[in-house]
Amino acid sequence: MLKNAIFATLLLFGLNNYSQEVAPPQVDLRIYDIIEAVSADEIEADIRRLAGFGTRNTFSDTVSDTRGIGAARRFIKADLEKISNDCNGCLDVFYQKDFVTKEGNNRVPKDAWVVNVVAVQKGTKYPNRYIIMSGDIDSRASNTMDFTTDAPGANDNASGMAGVMEAARVLSNYEFENSIVYLGLSGEEQGLFGGQGFAQMAKDEGWEIIGVLNNDMIGNIEGVDGVIDNRAFRIFSEPVPPTETENERNMRRYYGGEVDGISRQLARYVHRTTETYMPEMNPMMIYRLDRFGRGGHHRPFNDLGFAGIRIMEAHENYTQQHQDIRTEDGIEYGDVVEHVNFDYAAKLTAVNAITMASLAWAPPAPKEVAIGGIVEPSAKLKWEKVSGDNVAGYKVYWRETTAPQWEHSRYVGDVDNFTLEGIVIDNFFFGVSTVGKNGNESVVVFPSTTFRD
Ligand SMILES: [Zn+2]
Repeated sequence: MLKNAIFATLLLFGLNNYSQEVAPPQVDLRIYDIIEAVSADEIEADIRRLAGFGTRNTFSDTVSDTRGIGAARRFIKADLEKISNDCNGCLDVFYQKDFVTKEGNNRVPKDAWVVNVVAVQKGTKYPNRYIIMSGDIDSRASNTMDFTTDAPGANDNASGMAGVMEAARVLSNYEFENSIVYLGLSGEEQGLFGGQGFAQMAKDEGWEIIGVLNNDMIGNIEGVDGVIDNRAFRIFSEPVPPTETENERNMRRYYGGEVDGISRQLARYVHRTTETYMPEMNPMMIYRLDRFGRGGHHRPFNDLGFAGIRIMEAHENYTQQHQDIRTEDGIEYGDVVEHVNFDYAAKLTAVNAITMASLAWAPPAPKEVAIGGIVEPSAKLKWEKVSGDNVAGYKVYWRETTAPQWEHSRYVGDVDNFTLEGIVIDNFFFGVSTVGKNGNESVVVFPSTTFRD
Protein backbone atom coordinates (compact mmCIF):
# COMPACT_ATOMS: atom_id res chain seq x y z
CA MET A 1 0.00 0.00 0.00
CA LEU A 2 2.77 2.38 0.99
CA LYS A 3 4.60 1.59 -2.24
CA ASN A 4 1.44 2.30 -4.25
CA ALA A 5 1.03 5.59 -2.44
CA ILE A 6 4.61 6.57 -3.26
CA PHE A 7 4.09 5.53 -6.85
CA ALA A 8 0.94 7.65 -7.07
CA THR A 9 2.82 10.58 -5.62
CA LEU A 10 5.63 10.19 -8.11
CA LEU A 11 3.13 10.01 -10.95
CA LEU A 12 1.55 13.17 -9.65
CA PHE A 13 4.86 14.98 -9.87
CA GLY A 14 5.75 13.42 -13.21
CA LEU A 15 8.69 11.57 -11.69
CA ASN A 16 7.56 8.06 -12.54
CA ASN A 17 10.73 7.36 -14.48
CA TYR A 18 12.56 7.35 -11.18
CA SER A 19 10.16 5.12 -9.31
CA GLN A 20 10.83 1.49 -8.48
CA GLU A 21 8.12 0.48 -10.91
CA VAL A 22 10.31 1.02 -13.96
CA ALA A 23 10.75 -2.27 -15.81
CA PRO A 24 14.27 -3.62 -16.38
CA PRO A 25 15.77 -3.33 -19.89
CA GLN A 26 14.42 -5.60 -22.64
CA VAL A 27 17.91 -6.52 -23.87
CA ASP A 28 21.40 -6.80 -22.43
CA LEU A 29 23.74 -5.03 -24.85
CA ARG A 30 26.65 -7.30 -23.90
CA ILE A 31 24.83 -10.12 -25.72
CA TYR A 32 25.44 -8.40 -29.06
CA ASP A 33 29.18 -8.27 -28.31
CA ILE A 34 29.13 -12.01 -27.63
CA ILE A 35 27.51 -12.75 -31.01
CA GLU A 36 30.12 -10.56 -32.67
CA ALA A 37 33.00 -12.31 -30.90
CA VAL A 38 32.19 -15.84 -32.07
CA SER A 39 34.70 -16.66 -34.80
CA ALA A 40 34.12 -18.99 -37.75
CA ASP A 41 37.90 -19.11 -38.27
CA GLU A 42 38.53 -20.41 -34.74
CA ILE A 43 35.82 -23.02 -35.22
CA GLU A 44 37.29 -24.07 -38.57
CA ALA A 45 40.76 -24.46 -37.06
CA ASP A 46 39.41 -26.67 -34.25
CA ILE A 47 37.32 -28.82 -36.60
CA ARG A 48 40.36 -29.34 -38.84
CA ARG A 49 42.49 -30.32 -35.83
CA LEU A 50 39.86 -32.75 -34.53
CA ALA A 51 39.18 -34.32 -37.94
CA GLY A 52 42.96 -34.58 -38.39
CA PHE A 53 43.27 -37.20 -35.64
CA GLY A 54 42.13 -39.82 -38.17
CA THR A 55 39.57 -41.51 -35.97
CA ARG A 56 38.22 -40.44 -32.61
CA ASN A 57 36.39 -43.69 -32.01
CA THR A 58 36.04 -44.10 -28.24
CA PHE A 59 37.99 -47.37 -28.44
CA SER A 60 40.76 -46.05 -30.70
CA ASP A 61 44.43 -45.39 -29.84
CA THR A 62 45.00 -43.43 -26.62
CA VAL A 63 48.82 -43.31 -26.72
CA SER A 64 49.64 -41.64 -30.05
CA ASP A 65 49.95 -37.84 -30.16
CA THR A 66 48.65 -37.66 -33.72
CA ARG A 67 45.93 -40.29 -34.05
CA GLY A 68 43.01 -41.52 -31.98
CA ILE A 69 40.79 -40.33 -29.17
CA GLY A 70 43.65 -39.94 -26.68
CA ALA A 71 45.34 -37.31 -28.82
CA ALA A 72 41.97 -35.63 -29.43
CA ARG A 73 41.08 -35.26 -25.77
CA ARG A 74 44.55 -34.03 -24.85
CA PHE A 75 44.24 -31.39 -27.58
CA ILE A 76 40.83 -30.28 -26.27
CA LYS A 77 42.05 -30.17 -22.66
CA ALA A 78 45.17 -28.21 -23.62
CA ASP A 79 43.07 -25.73 -25.62
CA LEU A 80 40.69 -25.15 -22.68
CA GLU A 81 43.68 -24.77 -20.33
CA LYS A 82 45.13 -22.14 -22.65
CA ILE A 83 41.79 -20.29 -22.63
CA SER A 84 41.88 -20.48 -18.85
CA ASN A 85 45.41 -19.04 -18.73
CA ASP A 86 44.18 -16.11 -20.79
CA CYS A 87 41.50 -15.32 -18.18
CA ASN A 88 43.66 -15.68 -15.05
CA GLY A 89 42.60 -19.26 -14.44
CA CYS A 90 38.85 -18.63 -14.73
CA LEU A 91 38.24 -22.23 -15.88
CA ASP A 92 38.68 -25.37 -13.84
CA VAL A 93 39.69 -27.94 -16.50
CA PHE A 94 39.71 -31.67 -15.78
CA TYR A 95 38.95 -35.17 -17.06
CA GLN A 96 35.94 -37.06 -15.80
CA LYS A 97 35.89 -40.75 -16.69
CA ASP A 98 34.06 -44.03 -16.33
CA PHE A 99 35.09 -47.56 -17.24
CA VAL A 100 32.98 -49.51 -19.74
CA THR A 101 33.31 -53.21 -20.35
CA LYS A 102 32.75 -55.42 -23.38
CA GLU A 103 30.70 -57.79 -21.27
CA GLY A 104 27.02 -56.95 -21.44
CA ASN A 105 27.48 -54.25 -24.10
CA ASN A 106 27.06 -55.45 -27.67
CA ARG A 107 28.41 -52.20 -29.12
CA VAL A 108 31.57 -52.15 -26.99
CA PRO A 109 34.47 -53.89 -28.80
CA LYS A 110 36.78 -53.89 -25.76
CA ASP A 111 37.04 -52.65 -22.18
CA ALA A 112 38.05 -48.99 -22.05
CA TRP A 113 37.89 -45.73 -20.15
CA VAL A 114 35.32 -43.32 -21.49
CA VAL A 115 36.95 -39.97 -20.83
CA ASN A 116 35.14 -36.63 -20.88
CA VAL A 117 36.85 -33.22 -20.87
CA VAL A 118 35.27 -30.67 -18.54
CA ALA A 119 35.86 -26.93 -18.06
CA VAL A 120 33.90 -25.15 -15.34
CA GLN A 121 33.60 -21.37 -15.15
CA LYS A 122 32.39 -20.80 -11.60
CA GLY A 123 29.54 -18.41 -10.99
CA THR A 124 30.14 -15.52 -8.58
CA LYS A 125 26.75 -15.66 -6.89
CA TYR A 126 25.26 -19.12 -7.50
CA PRO A 127 28.29 -21.39 -7.97
CA ASN A 128 26.26 -24.60 -7.62
CA ARG A 129 23.83 -23.66 -10.40
CA TYR A 130 25.14 -24.83 -13.78
CA ILE A 131 24.29 -24.21 -17.40
CA ILE A 132 26.04 -26.79 -19.58
CA MET A 133 27.02 -26.77 -23.25
CA SER A 134 28.08 -30.15 -24.57
CA GLY A 135 29.58 -31.54 -27.74
CA ASP A 136 31.13 -34.93 -28.47
CA ILE A 137 34.77 -35.87 -28.72
CA ASP A 138 34.17 -39.22 -30.40
CA SER A 139 33.44 -40.24 -33.99
CA ARG A 140 32.66 -43.45 -35.82
CA ALA A 141 33.13 -45.23 -39.16
CA SER A 142 30.42 -47.26 -40.94
CA ASN A 143 30.79 -50.00 -38.35
CA THR A 144 30.66 -48.51 -34.86
CA MET A 145 32.79 -51.42 -33.54
CA ASP A 146 35.59 -50.50 -35.98
CA PHE A 147 38.07 -48.33 -34.08
CA THR A 148 40.90 -48.22 -36.62
CA THR A 149 39.38 -47.08 -39.94
CA ASP A 150 39.45 -43.33 -40.63
CA ALA A 151 36.41 -41.56 -39.17
CA PRO A 152 37.08 -37.81 -39.33
CA GLY A 153 33.63 -36.97 -37.90
CA ALA A 154 34.03 -33.37 -39.06
CA ASN A 155 30.36 -32.58 -38.64
CA ASP A 156 29.48 -35.48 -36.29
CA ASN A 157 30.62 -34.18 -34.00
CA ALA A 158 33.79 -32.12 -34.32
CA SER A 159 31.43 -29.23 -35.17
CA GLY A 160 29.69 -29.43 -31.79
CA MET A 161 32.97 -29.91 -29.95
CA ALA A 162 34.58 -26.94 -31.71
CA GLY A 163 31.49 -24.89 -30.84
CA VAL A 164 31.96 -25.74 -27.16
CA MET A 165 35.63 -24.68 -27.28
CA GLU A 166 34.74 -21.44 -29.07
CA ALA A 167 31.98 -20.62 -26.57
CA ALA A 168 34.56 -21.08 -23.80
CA ARG A 169 36.96 -18.71 -25.55
CA VAL A 170 34.29 -16.01 -25.92
CA LEU A 171 32.45 -16.31 -22.59
CA SER A 172 35.64 -16.57 -20.51
CA ASN A 173 36.01 -12.81 -21.08
CA TYR A 174 33.01 -12.23 -18.81
CA GLU A 175 32.00 -12.97 -15.25
CA PHE A 176 28.68 -14.64 -14.54
CA GLU A 177 26.51 -15.11 -11.46
CA ASN A 178 25.80 -18.75 -12.36
CA SER A 179 28.36 -21.38 -13.37
CA ILE A 180 28.93 -22.41 -16.98
CA VAL A 181 30.25 -25.83 -18.00
CA TYR A 182 31.99 -26.46 -21.34
CA LEU A 183 31.76 -30.19 -21.83
CA GLY A 184 33.35 -32.61 -24.28
CA LEU A 185 31.68 -36.02 -24.00
CA SER A 186 32.92 -39.37 -25.23
CA GLY A 187 31.32 -42.75 -25.91
CA GLU A 188 28.34 -41.16 -27.68
CA GLU A 189 28.26 -43.45 -30.68
CA GLN A 190 28.21 -46.72 -28.72
CA GLY A 191 25.60 -45.94 -26.08
CA LEU A 192 25.77 -42.39 -24.66
CA PHE A 193 28.29 -43.56 -22.04
CA GLY A 194 30.02 -40.23 -21.47
CA GLY A 195 26.78 -38.38 -20.84
CA GLN A 196 25.55 -41.10 -18.50
CA GLY A 197 28.72 -40.94 -16.42
CA PHE A 198 28.79 -37.17 -16.28
CA ALA A 199 25.08 -36.75 -15.49
CA GLN A 200 25.41 -39.31 -12.68
CA MET A 201 28.41 -37.44 -11.27
CA ALA A 202 26.48 -34.15 -11.34
CA LYS A 203 23.57 -35.81 -9.57
CA ASP A 204 25.77 -37.44 -6.95
CA GLU A 205 27.48 -34.12 -6.26
CA GLY A 206 24.15 -32.31 -5.92
CA TRP A 207 24.55 -29.98 -8.88
CA GLU A 208 21.59 -27.76 -9.65
CA ILE A 209 21.48 -27.93 -13.45
CA ILE A 210 19.68 -25.04 -15.12
CA GLY A 211 19.90 -26.86 -18.43
CA VAL A 212 22.02 -28.82 -20.87
CA LEU A 213 22.48 -27.54 -24.42
CA ASN A 214 23.69 -30.57 -26.32
CA ASN A 215 25.18 -29.75 -29.70
CA ASP A 216 25.40 -32.63 -32.12
CA MET A 217 26.04 -31.77 -35.78
CA ILE A 218 25.88 -28.00 -36.15
CA GLY A 219 27.75 -27.55 -39.44
CA ASN A 220 25.80 -29.00 -42.35
CA ILE A 221 23.64 -26.69 -44.48
CA GLU A 222 23.00 -28.93 -47.51
CA GLY A 223 20.47 -31.64 -46.78
CA VAL A 224 20.04 -35.05 -48.30
CA ASP A 225 16.73 -33.63 -49.57
CA GLY A 226 18.66 -31.06 -51.65
CA VAL A 227 17.63 -28.10 -49.53
CA ILE A 228 20.39 -25.59 -48.81
CA ASP A 229 19.66 -23.40 -45.81
CA ASN A 230 22.10 -21.57 -43.57
CA ARG A 231 19.50 -19.96 -41.31
CA ALA A 232 17.30 -22.74 -39.95
CA PHE A 233 18.25 -25.00 -37.06
CA ARG A 234 16.41 -27.41 -34.80
CA ILE A 235 15.84 -27.43 -31.04
CA PHE A 236 14.73 -30.88 -29.87
CA SER A 237 13.06 -31.23 -26.49
CA GLU A 238 11.01 -33.91 -24.82
CA PRO A 239 7.54 -32.90 -23.57
CA VAL A 240 7.78 -33.90 -19.90
CA PRO A 241 10.51 -35.52 -17.81
CA PRO A 242 10.59 -39.34 -17.83
CA THR A 243 11.12 -39.16 -14.06
CA GLU A 244 7.69 -37.71 -13.31
CA THR A 245 5.63 -39.55 -10.72
CA GLU A 246 2.32 -41.33 -11.23
CA ASN A 247 0.69 -38.54 -9.25
CA GLU A 248 2.18 -35.86 -11.51
CA ARG A 249 0.97 -37.78 -14.54
CA ASN A 250 -2.54 -37.92 -13.11
CA MET A 251 -2.50 -34.22 -12.24
CA ARG A 252 -1.68 -33.35 -15.85
CA ARG A 253 -5.00 -34.78 -16.99
CA TYR A 254 -6.81 -32.16 -14.95
CA TYR A 255 -4.48 -29.17 -14.98
CA GLY A 256 -2.49 -29.52 -18.21
CA GLY A 257 1.24 -29.46 -18.84
CA GLU A 258 1.53 -32.14 -21.53
CA VAL A 259 3.90 -29.93 -23.53
CA ASP A 260 5.33 -27.86 -20.68
CA GLY A 261 8.09 -29.91 -19.05
CA ILE A 262 11.40 -28.36 -18.00
CA SER A 263 13.23 -29.33 -21.19
CA ARG A 264 10.48 -27.81 -23.34
CA GLN A 265 10.74 -24.56 -21.37
CA LEU A 266 14.50 -24.56 -21.95
CA ALA A 267 13.87 -25.06 -25.68
CA ARG A 268 11.46 -22.10 -25.67
CA TYR A 269 14.14 -20.05 -23.94
CA VAL A 270 16.68 -20.83 -26.68
CA HIS A 271 14.06 -20.07 -29.33
CA ARG A 272 13.10 -16.72 -27.80
CA THR A 273 16.68 -15.64 -27.09
CA THR A 274 17.57 -16.37 -30.72
CA GLU A 275 14.60 -14.41 -32.05
CA THR A 276 15.43 -11.47 -29.77
CA TYR A 277 19.14 -11.17 -30.51
CA MET A 278 19.71 -13.04 -33.80
CA PRO A 279 16.61 -12.29 -35.88
CA GLU A 280 18.31 -13.48 -39.06
CA MET A 281 18.14 -17.06 -37.76
CA ASN A 282 15.19 -19.41 -38.05
CA PRO A 283 14.99 -21.62 -34.96
CA MET A 284 12.61 -24.59 -35.21
CA MET A 285 11.01 -26.01 -32.09
CA ILE A 286 10.86 -29.78 -32.59
CA TYR A 287 8.43 -31.39 -30.18
CA ARG A 288 10.33 -34.63 -29.56
CA LEU A 289 13.28 -35.90 -27.56
CA ASP A 290 15.41 -36.42 -30.65
CA ARG A 291 15.18 -37.48 -34.28
CA PHE A 292 12.92 -40.46 -35.05
CA GLY A 293 14.45 -43.53 -33.42
CA ARG A 294 17.83 -41.86 -32.91
CA GLY A 295 19.53 -40.49 -29.84
CA GLY A 296 21.96 -37.96 -28.45
CA HIS A 297 23.83 -36.93 -25.36
CA HIS A 298 21.11 -34.76 -23.79
CA ARG A 299 19.10 -37.93 -23.11
CA PRO A 300 21.16 -39.27 -20.16
CA PHE A 301 20.61 -35.91 -18.44
CA ASN A 302 16.86 -36.11 -19.15
CA ASP A 303 16.89 -39.66 -17.79
CA LEU A 304 17.98 -38.31 -14.40
CA GLY A 305 15.37 -35.53 -14.41
CA PHE A 306 17.55 -32.65 -15.67
CA ALA A 307 16.44 -30.19 -18.35
CA GLY A 308 18.30 -30.83 -21.57
CA ILE A 309 17.81 -30.21 -25.29
CA ARG A 310 19.53 -30.95 -28.58
CA ILE A 311 20.60 -28.14 -30.88
CA MET A 312 21.45 -29.12 -34.45
CA GLU A 313 21.31 -28.30 -38.13
CA ALA A 314 17.91 -28.40 -39.86
CA HIS A 315 19.06 -30.37 -42.90
CA GLU A 316 21.06 -33.55 -42.39
CA ASN A 317 22.99 -35.47 -45.00
CA TYR A 318 23.09 -39.19 -44.30
CA THR A 319 25.76 -39.96 -46.88
CA GLN A 320 28.05 -37.87 -44.69
CA GLN A 321 27.23 -39.44 -41.32
CA HIS A 322 28.64 -42.65 -39.87
CA GLN A 323 30.20 -43.55 -43.23
CA ASP A 324 33.60 -44.87 -44.27
CA ILE A 325 35.19 -42.44 -46.72
CA ARG A 326 34.58 -43.88 -50.19
CA THR A 327 32.93 -43.25 -53.54
CA GLU A 328 30.09 -45.55 -54.50
CA ASP A 329 27.81 -45.16 -57.54
CA GLY A 330 29.19 -41.66 -57.97
CA ILE A 331 28.29 -40.65 -54.41
CA GLU A 332 31.07 -39.41 -52.14
CA TYR A 333 30.52 -40.85 -48.69
CA GLY A 334 32.18 -39.67 -45.49
CA ASP A 335 32.02 -37.00 -42.80
CA VAL A 336 34.87 -34.86 -44.11
CA VAL A 337 35.80 -31.23 -43.39
CA GLU A 338 34.88 -30.11 -46.91
CA HIS A 339 31.18 -30.52 -46.12
CA VAL A 340 31.18 -28.32 -43.01
CA ASN A 341 29.97 -24.74 -43.26
CA PHE A 342 31.99 -22.86 -40.64
CA ASP A 343 29.93 -19.65 -40.73
CA TYR A 344 26.81 -21.67 -39.97
CA ALA A 345 28.57 -23.53 -37.14
CA ALA A 346 29.59 -20.12 -35.77
CA LYS A 347 25.95 -18.97 -35.88
CA LEU A 348 24.78 -21.99 -33.91
CA THR A 349 27.67 -21.55 -31.49
CA ALA A 350 26.51 -17.96 -30.96
CA VAL A 351 22.99 -19.26 -30.25
CA ASN A 352 24.47 -21.38 -27.47
CA ALA A 353 26.73 -18.63 -26.16
CA ILE A 354 23.95 -16.04 -25.87
CA THR A 355 21.58 -18.54 -24.27
CA MET A 356 24.21 -19.46 -21.69
CA ALA A 357 25.15 -15.83 -21.05
CA SER A 358 21.50 -14.84 -20.58
CA LEU A 359 20.84 -17.71 -18.19
CA ALA A 360 24.14 -17.28 -16.34
CA TRP A 361 23.43 -13.56 -15.83
CA ALA A 362 19.83 -14.20 -14.77
CA PRO A 363 18.55 -14.84 -11.25
CA PRO A 364 17.11 -18.28 -10.43
CA ALA A 365 13.58 -19.08 -11.57
CA PRO A 366 10.74 -18.64 -9.06
CA LYS A 367 9.89 -21.70 -7.00
CA GLU A 368 6.53 -23.19 -6.04
CA VAL A 369 4.62 -21.52 -8.87
CA ALA A 370 0.91 -22.11 -8.27
CA ILE A 371 -2.16 -21.26 -10.34
CA GLY A 372 -5.74 -20.50 -9.42
CA GLY A 373 -8.88 -19.01 -10.93
CA ILE A 374 -11.16 -22.01 -11.52
CA VAL A 375 -14.71 -20.88 -12.44
CA GLU A 376 -13.61 -17.25 -12.15
CA PRO A 377 -13.14 -14.52 -14.77
CA SER A 378 -9.43 -14.04 -14.07
CA ALA A 379 -6.36 -16.28 -13.81
CA LYS A 380 -4.25 -15.97 -10.68
CA LEU A 381 -0.65 -16.89 -10.13
CA LYS A 382 1.50 -16.98 -7.04
CA TRP A 383 5.05 -18.06 -6.39
CA GLU A 384 7.91 -18.04 -3.93
CA LYS A 385 10.17 -15.02 -4.44
CA VAL A 386 13.87 -15.44 -5.19
CA SER A 387 16.24 -13.65 -2.82
CA GLY A 388 19.07 -11.55 -4.19
CA ASP A 389 19.94 -7.91 -4.87
CA ASN A 390 20.09 -8.71 -8.59
CA VAL A 391 16.36 -9.51 -8.80
CA ALA A 392 14.20 -6.81 -10.40
CA GLY A 393 10.92 -8.71 -10.35
CA TYR A 394 8.82 -11.27 -12.15
CA LYS A 395 7.18 -11.74 -15.51
CA VAL A 396 3.94 -13.62 -16.10
CA TYR A 397 3.61 -15.42 -19.43
CA TRP A 398 0.64 -16.95 -21.18
CA ARG A 399 -0.26 -18.44 -24.54
CA GLU A 400 -3.07 -20.12 -26.42
CA THR A 401 -3.21 -23.84 -25.64
CA THR A 402 -2.14 -24.73 -29.20
CA ALA A 403 0.72 -22.21 -29.46
CA PRO A 404 4.28 -23.60 -29.38
CA GLN A 405 5.83 -20.49 -27.85
CA TRP A 406 4.76 -18.05 -25.10
CA GLU A 407 2.72 -15.37 -26.85
CA HIS A 408 1.96 -12.81 -24.17
CA SER A 409 3.86 -11.55 -21.18
CA ARG A 410 3.58 -8.89 -18.56
CA TYR A 411 6.27 -7.63 -16.23
CA VAL A 412 4.56 -7.43 -12.84
CA GLY A 413 7.31 -6.06 -10.59
CA ASP A 414 8.76 -7.43 -7.38
CA VAL A 415 5.65 -9.21 -6.11
CA ASP A 416 4.82 -12.81 -5.23
CA ASN A 417 1.42 -13.03 -6.88
CA PHE A 418 -0.56 -11.51 -9.72
CA THR A 419 -4.08 -11.64 -11.13
CA LEU A 420 -4.50 -11.42 -14.90
CA GLU A 421 -7.82 -9.62 -15.02
CA GLY A 422 -10.21 -10.94 -17.65
CA ILE A 423 -7.96 -13.80 -18.77
CA VAL A 424 -9.88 -17.04 -18.28
CA ILE A 425 -7.72 -19.86 -16.93
CA ASP A 426 -9.27 -22.53 -19.20
CA ASN A 427 -8.23 -20.96 -22.48
CA PHE A 428 -4.50 -20.42 -21.98
CA PHE A 429 -1.38 -21.93 -20.47
CA PHE A 430 0.57 -19.82 -17.98
CA GLY A 431 4.07 -19.50 -16.55
CA VAL A 432 6.29 -17.19 -14.47
CA SER A 433 9.94 -16.15 -14.80
CA THR A 434 12.31 -14.10 -12.65
CA VAL A 435 13.78 -10.98 -14.26
CA GLY A 436 17.19 -9.60 -13.29
CA LYS A 437 17.98 -5.89 -12.98
CA ASN A 438 20.25 -6.34 -16.01
CA GLY A 439 17.23 -7.52 -18.04
CA ASN A 440 18.22 -11.19 -18.20
CA GLU A 441 15.50 -13.68 -17.36
CA SER A 442 15.25 -17.15 -15.92
CA VAL A 443 13.54 -19.98 -17.75
CA VAL A 444 9.74 -19.78 -17.49
CA VAL A 445 8.27 -22.05 -14.81
CA PHE A 446 4.99 -23.84 -15.49
CA PRO A 447 2.77 -24.02 -12.35
CA SER A 448 3.21 -27.26 -10.45
CA THR A 449 0.35 -26.77 -8.00
CA THR A 450 -3.07 -25.16 -7.87
CA PHE A 451 -4.85 -23.05 -5.28
CA ARG A 452 -8.27 -21.66 -4.46
CA ASP A 453 -8.96 -18.63 -2.32
ZN1 LIG B 1 26.84 -39.80 -34.66
